[in-house]
Amino acid sequence: MSVALVTGATGQDGSYLVDRLLAEGLEVHGLVRREDLVDPRPDGLVVHELDLDSPPHLLAGLVERVGPDELYHLGGLSSVARSWEDPLHATRVNGLASLALMDAARRLQEQRGREVRVLQASSAEIFGEPEVSPQDERTAIRPVSPYGAAKAFAHHAAGVERSRGLFTVSLILYNHESPRRPPTFVTRKITSTVAAISAGRGERLRLGNLDARRDWGWAPDYVDAMVRALRHDEPGDYVVATGAARSVRDFVAAAFGHVGIADWEGLVEVDPALFRPADPSLLVGDATRARERLGWSPTVPFAGIVARMVDAETARP
Ligand code: GDP
Repeated sequence: MSVALVTGATGQDGSYLVDRLLAEGLEVHGLVRREDLVDPRPDGLVVHELDLDSPPHLLAGLVERVGPDELYHLGGLSSVARSWEDPLHATRVNGLASLALMDAARRLQEQRGREVRVLQASSAEIFGEPEVSPQDERTAIRPVSPYGAAKAFAHHAAGVERSRGLFTVSLILYNHESPRRPPTFVTRKITSTVAAISAGRGERLRLGNLDARRDWGWAPDYVDAMVRALRHDEPGDYVVATGAARSVRDFVAAAFGHVGIADWEGLVEVDPALFRPADPSLLVGDATRARERLGWSPTVPFAGIVARMVDAETARP
């Protein structure tokens, strides 16, 4: 039986991935921070409590004990906004921890003489304010946030480890959403507030930059891309995106539209305190390589993502 180790196993992507790997019959281990040790946990998941901010030898020790064939590194700080508050923490968790895991995987592979494959969850934030649109795997890496800089380091480290003989894939993931998205992200904030307003429990939606544009996809599709990439014949980098950018304003309009509120402008308040020091205004990805090599394509269009998220909020007890 293949063994998988998933970091960030309780996060949005980690939880979808763990469900999938368990259904496939793998032995699945999850690395989870103490504060995320919540129940219920998926049946069969072997939980290891460890923070990615731990000393590298502890991360290496875990990789050695678990002995994974597939290591999906999804954990880390997921909020760009929070990386401005503590850039050193963002760098240790999103940069250094990735290298520690890859280094440990390479040593494990050398020791036991069997391949260890590693997936690095990279991010469109590594492109910062790109000069070309859409971006692909050849676009210049020039981050503008501490989060992006740390992810860029880990992305480069995956390339270096690949040249040293480790099978690494780095997925340059554009924003991907679902009802499991944490409420700090703008999509969950919008859908939960719109559902509350529609049920007569909320009054106004306070947001920052309504003109920011993102390429929003459906999280389970992105998890599918991860598995396809890790099990492909060749290692490599892949942009994973829908290719269509929408503004925060578009998302708001679609969410209100879904609950039958057409005249929503008066329900939204723009708060300058929610603007960021630097905020990529146009991130949109060209996933041609993933389509051609992995046979991957997104399955849920923008309106469907908004509708599913609003409906999930409405159904929450
Ligand atoms: P990110 O792209 O990974 O940072 O995902 P977010 O969902 O946090 O933010 C997406 C975009 O929405 C960014 O350009 C934010 O500036 C913008 N945005 C506008 N208002 C808000 C808000 O109230 N909260 C968040 N999180 N983002 C907002």
